[in-house]
Amino acid sequence: MTILVISDIHANRTALEAVLEDAGSFDEVWCLGDVVGYGPDPNSCVEIVRELPDLVCLRGNHDSAVAGLAENTKFNPTAQKALEWTEQELNAGNLTYIKELPTHAEMDEVTLAHGSPRDPVWEYIMDPYTATANFDFFSTPYCLVGHSHIPFLYFYRSEEELAQRRNLELGEAVELPGRALLNPGSVGQPRDNDPRASYAVFEPEKRMWIPHRVVYDVEAVQARMKEAGLPLTYIQRIAHGW
Ligand code: ZN
Repeated sequence: MTILVISDIHANRTALEAVLEDAGSFDEVWCLGDVVGYGPDPNSCVEIVRELPDLVCLRGNHDSAVAGLAENTKFNPTAQKALEWTEQELNAGNLTYIKELPTHAEMDEVTLAHGSPRDPVWEYIMDPYTATANFDFFSTPYCLVGHSHIPFLYFYRSEEELAQRRNLELGEAVELPGRALLNPGSVGQPRDNDPRASYAVFEPEKRMWIPHRVVYDVEAVQARMKEAGLPLTYIQRIAHGW
């Protein structure tokens, strides 16, 4: 079985389409939240995602804000502008779909959350201390998260040691250790200085994780963002991956 793991699409249809094409065939899709926010294509991204086969999709912090389930004031003023635009743009059907998504899920050996298992909507896992602390908050061998827009794999040995971050090689399968915390990176707004869309493939029977990146037409997305009047920072950052 092959599971496509995606997160933080952020209304970037061109990046999402590039990922789906690059991934080829898969049996299931796990989407770890933030389908909308920042980008110019909220409706088409929700529509593409909801049609994916055997989909589990979570609600992220941007999705929650747009759906009226989180305060916009928790975001900085520029992000609030993009959220207001998204709220006006999304049609009623897509809004209802987002509103009803869960914030976390458990799938056999894997826990799914947008931010972290400790705080599924909001917490960022950005360092080994936060990663280590979060191993106490899931009982499955593995936990997959998004939210930081940075791909990672932390594995855990014992309570006495900090979780270790392992370097990932693109396209190279990693056999997962006993317990691991993983992030597939962001489809629509990567933040690890690599502008290519990020995703991962998970093969549960083999306990394999394969990180991938794919180039997409950033300029086409930037043109749609300009047309929509979205904030300049978000238009610029997708070209650089910060
Ligand atoms: Zn995000």
